[in-house]
Amino acid sequence: MNGNAIISLGLGLQEPWKITGQTLDTEKTPHELRLEVSAERGAKYPCPECGAMCNAHDFITKTWRHLNFFQHHCYVTAPVPRVRCLEHGVKQIKVPWARPGSKFTLLFEEAAILLTMQMPVSVCAGLLEIDDKMLWRIIGFHVNRAMAGIDLSQLKAFAVDETSARREHRYVTVFTDQDRKTRPVAFAVPGKGKETIKAFKNHLESHGGAAGNVRDVVSDMSGPFLAGIGQHFGNARKTVDWFHAVQLFTKALDQTRRLEAKTAKLPTATRWAVLKSGNLTEKQENALSELQRMNLHTASAWRVKKMLRWVRLAATPQAAKWRMTNFLSVASELAASSPLLAPVRKALATVQKHRQAILARWESGYSNARAESLNGIFQAANRLLKK
Ligand SMILES: [Zn+2]
Repeated sequence: MNGNAIISLGLGLQEPWKITGQTLDTEKTPHELRLEVSAERGAKYPCPECGAMCNAHDFITKTWRHLNFFQHHCYVTAPVPRVRCLEHGVKQIKVPWARPGSKFTLLFEEAAILLTMQMPVSVCAGLLEIDDKMLWRIIGFHVNRAMAGIDLSQLKAFAVDETSARREHRYVTVFTDQDRKTRPVAFAVPGKGKETIKAFKNHLESHGGAAGNVRDVVSDMSGPFLAGIGQHFGNARKTVDWFHAVQLFTKALDQTRRLEAKTAKLPTATRWAVLKSGNLTEKQENALSELQRMNLHTASAWRVKKMLRWVRLAATPQAAKWRMTNFLSVASELAASSPLLAPVRKALATVQKHRQAILARWESGYSNARAESLNGIFQAANRLLKK
């Protein structure tokens, strides 16, 4: 077996294709290994529609980036024929080493996808020495293809989250199957709100699933999501992700602190002390005691947030319901005293409004454990948006 034959095997070449030349271009840095692939004159090629062996009509020379050959970049060049099929007319054939439209060989793409499963895309792009936009395009293609074949016939519970590419004000909404620990993403669609819920329903039903089989949906408290879920997944119990309830009060607390900082001197370290949940430094502990001793409104907002954590620790649905009632009444009293606490009152009104869906987490068993694993998915979605 000679060198050409070994490389032919690596490329997945089959009749009539052969390696017909190799040159190492040492003028370029890094050096470029150029492989020429072609077929004998007069060879016949399969029609892409029916597979009938046809004569070549004309040729166009194309080049693909292939796996590095040691430290050298490697390119494959071939004259790709259009065939003239008696039945289908003039057609561009498919080459066995690359998918139509790609500037990379299949082996290169496969290696790239394997790498991106192990490390961030920007790092992979650096290793492969390609532009990261190109790498995202490869990932986008293979992800879409995998998604097209997904079987959703068993889907009974899903979570919906939106993410935005901040600078561009563009959104992606991601749907995850709550019963699948690995590869949980069932669907992702550009945009946000009610329309995305309908798009997911269509996707679900064209992949073996049924909207009527969905028993549980986890989401945030956004009106359009909740309305869409009500309309398209009428049999499902709605659960608000606990994370979103906490987020409401974290924001409210920060707003109160900012308002109060304009009129009163807050202890230093207050900002971090009130935002953290546990593991405070000594300085932060002191700041908190100081806040409470001085009877500042920021301290009230902080106590409301701390009490929310107490609700979360309830062991049973009954206990959670009782704690929630308690929380709402004590917190409302705490927050009634000042205009500076208006953000907290607003957060409490939101919780009151979605109380049932927030408490549903104790019944449904679908919690927010996935929130962190979703971060990676969101980053990926953001990058796809920026293409
Ligand atoms: Zn044909």
